Amino acid sequence: DGFIEPGPAAGTGVVCSRVMPHAYPFLTPEQKKELSDIAQRIVVSGKGILAADESTGSVAKRFQSVNAENTEENRRLYRQLLFTADDRVNPCIGGAILFHETMYQKTDDGKPFPQHLKERGWVVGIKVDKGVVPLAGTNGETTTQGLDGLYERCAQYKKDGADFAKWRCVLKITPTTPSRLAIIENANVLARYASICQMHGIVPIVEPEILPDGDHDLKRCQYVTEKVLAAVYKALSDHHVYLEGTLLKPNMVTAGHSCSHKYSNQEIAMATVTALRRTVPPAVPGITFLSGGQSEEEASVNLNAINTCPLHKPWALTFSYGRALQASALKAWGGKKENGKACQEEFVKRALANSQACQGKYVSSGSSAAGGESLYVANHAY
Ligand code: 13P
Repeated sequence: DGFIEPGPAAGTGVVCSRVMPHAYPFLTPEQKKELSDIAQRIVVSGKGILAADESTGSVAKRFQSVNAENTEENRRLYRQLLFTADDRVNPCIGGAILFHETMYQKTDDGKPFPQHLKERGWVVGIKVDKGVVPLAGTNGETTTQGLDGLYERCAQYKKDGADFAKWRCVLKITPTTPSRLAIIENANVLARYASICQMHGIVPIVEPEILPDGDHDLKRCQYVTEKVLAAVYKALSDHHVYLEGTLLKPNMVTAGHSCSHKYSNQEIAMATVTALRRTVPPAVPGITFLSGGQSEEEASVNLNAINTCPLHKPWALTFSYGRALQASALKAWGGKKENGKACQEEFVKRALANSQACQGKYVSSGSSAAGGESLYVANHAY
């Protein structure tokens, strides 16, 4: 059944009989169907993901920028505004990623957020990683922690309504990074996380984010993105992850934030789709980009260019934006009850724009409050 692996005698013409381990099936056909149905539902044409899983520390920074107080109630009120935006967002949002706290908060009328979201047809997602920690002996590189107890936490989250999850790993481009260690370690931890999720009927979003910090050019980002994604898909294969029941959340291929040369949206799209075509198997149903500090408008225009790029694209290419869906909404809200409607209006605008963009139909109008403003934060933590 297994493959014959060339052993120490490889290349000598002597066949070695070391047999690779057999993949004992860990998912039933029903479990596989459930996972692939969930993934498909999230990225069905015109839909993407609202990333609203900012940790309490990240919310602090966002709220501070609009003079809103970072209390549990304010976090609930703000998330509630996003989750109760009117039905114009229904064809735009396939799922929302929540932070642990939000998962157990309720709407004003006492309905748990997960139940509210399910009733409006959004798939519920949960951030399950516990943030980045240093990788010893590297030039400031990190791995992501959170595997301990993850098996049990996933079982509980599934019971509580989550059908997908997110785990973010971070890689940095400098003249000496990403190191081989960082690439291998982050690929492996993503694969461990993904296999644990799938055992519980949770679709893992695999997120190896390459930060936009630096002055590198587009080619360098493309090269690094290809190496990182190739390692990720090798690790997912090693861990027997069922690709049809996963989503990838990558960075777009862009030049470093302080690169002096400015590339066109078409160049960014071509570099991005080229890197993805070389590394991401067609079995993966969807690629949901992070916005990574691009302005709202840039994130929509680039997503549109990616979808109109004249190369064959076997996956749905859509958004899983945090900042690029929320910046104008947050600004319009400013922590004030009376601004709720204005906040929702801004969110609806970005949701509609990105829904168009993921179908290659977006015509830029540049009308949001924070639309053209860069949302770049150096060395961004989520
Ligand atoms: P941004 O779109 O703000 O980069 O965040 C998306 C996300 O969820 C990063 O993990």
